[in-house]
Amino acid sequence: MQVVYSPAHLAHDITLETFMGLPIPANEVAERAEKIRQALEADGGFPFVEPTEHGEAPITAVHDPGLVRFLEAAWSEVRRQGLQRPFLSADTYPNRQMFEGMSPDAVARLAREPEHAAGRAGFWGLDSAAPLVAGTYIAARAAVDVALTTVDLVLGGATSAYGLCRPPGHHAARSMYGGYCFFNNAAIAAETIVRATGERVAILDVDYHHGNGSQQIFWRRADVRYVSIHADPDRAYPYFLGRADEVGEGDGTGENLNIPLGAGATNDDYVAAVERALEAVLAVPGSVIVVSLGFDTYGLDPIGDFALTTDVYHEIGRRTAATGRRLVILQEGGYHRPSLGENARAWLRGAEGRAFDPLPATGFGEGGAVAG
Ligand SMILES: [Zn+2]
Repeated sequence: MQVVYSPAHLAHDITLETFMGLPIPANEVAERAEKIRQALEADGGFPFVEPTEHGEAPITAVHDPGLVRFLEAAWSEVRRQGLQRPFLSADTYPNRQMFEGMSPDAVARLAREPEHAAGRAGFWGLDSAAPLVAGTYIAARAAVDVALTTVDLVLGGATSAYGLCRPPGHHAARSMYGGYCFFNNAAIAAETIVRATGERVAILDVDYHHGNGSQQIFWRRADVRYVSIHADPDRAYPYFLGRADEVGEGDGTGENLNIPLGAGATNDDYVAAVERALEAVLAVPGSVIVVSLGFDTYGLDPIGDFALTTDVYHEIGRRTAATGRRLVILQEGGYHRPSLGENARAWLRGAEGRAFDPLPATGFGEGGAVAG
């Protein structure tokens, strides 16, 4: 299976994030993608391909151009406004109760983008968990090109291809970034496939978190079915979307399937959820599945609470490929760095119908097997 990778992700150089107002060592760091790259290179069965530039049009096909302009200019605005910060995070978010009792027309007029960078970050952002730095825009644009080059490979005839996207994308909505995500790589890929083929497309999201952005973008759409297995938002980010009763509206009614799982979900729990998800994917015609692939479902993940093991990723990859549909596989989350490479290798080898044998740890396992 070909792997699309760009070193441009290194420009999104994150060391700190905030959690509940306190600075903590960042989870979504460059080392994540490098661990996966090293493991797939060591495997020897994954030829690497560089992405080609696809321009802005596929991005604005799903995102508000205002979001693109904000992300492009945000860091130069931080500098111009003399804000001494290692990263940009919002000061204030426009909580919808701020406008309670005001008409939709009034809200549309009043809730507009301010000038201060900390207000602009609140206007376009969901949360304080997506630090924005000097190289964020370049890396986010490159991640989209990685996703779209992966689409090119599959539409060009490959059975499957893997895009090593970083930053991830599935929390980014049409007009909003958040949750380590800036552009929604999977949604951009799905939209591009719909436009290129005229077929219906399914997104299978197996990240630990609900992909609120993907759900929002296709909420009223009949041509993209979004199916997600994730932690119940009652206890996990993004908290306000991801429940089982969210099924879409209008033309999209019935096209959104959320499968929330409880804490401690086991391999068996998860495989049962995958079977249900794949059934929903296969219930609509089409030849391509976009997989939002996360490994924060792993038992040792520092921000997840599931109990999955490496072997089950191999099995899930195998079952997903056994649908007979072509797979555009795009990396989302996964924060236990020592296991990321092996988990990705296991999933992708499963999707190719190849056996999985763990690689010897030398060369990419420094830091120990169970670092936090
Ligand atoms: Zn996640």
